[in-house]
Amino acid sequence: MKSKSSMCSYCSKKTCFNGDLSNPPEFCPSIQYSDLLRQAKDTLHRADNQRMAQDVARTWKEYGKLTRVEETVEYARLQGHKKIGLAFCVGLSEEARLFTNVLLNAGFDVASVCCMCGALSADDVSLPDADKIVPGFRQPMCNPIGQAAIMDAEGCDLIVLLGLCVGDDTLFIKHAKAPVTVLAVKDRVLAHNPLGALYTARHIYTRINTRPPKDADK
Ligand code: SF4
Repeated sequence: MKSKSSMCSYCSKKTCFNGDLSNPPEFCPSIQYSDLLRQAKDTLHRADNQRMAQDVARTWKEYGKLTRVEETVEYARLQGHKKIGLAFCVGLSEEARLFTNVLLNAGFDVASVCCMCGALSADDVSLPDADKIVPGFRQPMCNPIGQAAIMDAEGCDLIVLLGLCVGDDTLFIKHAKAPVTVLAVKDRVLAHNPLGALYTARHIYTRINTRPPKDADK
């Protein structure tokens, strides 16, 4: 019976990296969930999954040399994808235009769909007026389910997310049929670099608390 939640984030040794599970911490999921992980390995051995995983590993051949943009192109190329879907945030329209150029120049067909497709507003989800940024005004709303449906209709082999809001990305992934990868996520404060909040937490950026709780495993 599992006694504690899996907690790799507090594992100081990470010996699984070297294939060694001989002395795991008590919260190690490799031990707690050994049966599940065996089933997952069987699933990985399915031809389609194995091919995807192999191509991820192949992108590692250029380890440390490729940017995320280049890795995305390389992975799509290795997978033999023909048409790439780009689901982007209206706030990153310029980045979407540039990345579309990259994909077209690499020889892919591209379908790109902005989060504002369908011209929805917060009224379409019956958002109470008091919860709007400015009560009484039309508040534009993203349409991730619509974006996912269009990607499907366009016959995209792989969908790349660019800057979707927290939760909109969740809705998109929930409804997408083609495989999804993420080029960048939205962070309106930190230039779309959410990890900046963690990197600077010990110094000047003090709104979040990254110290472990008193009763946390170390
Ligand atoms: S799987 Fe086990 S050994 Fe690996 S990081 Fe998690 S707790 Fe540590």
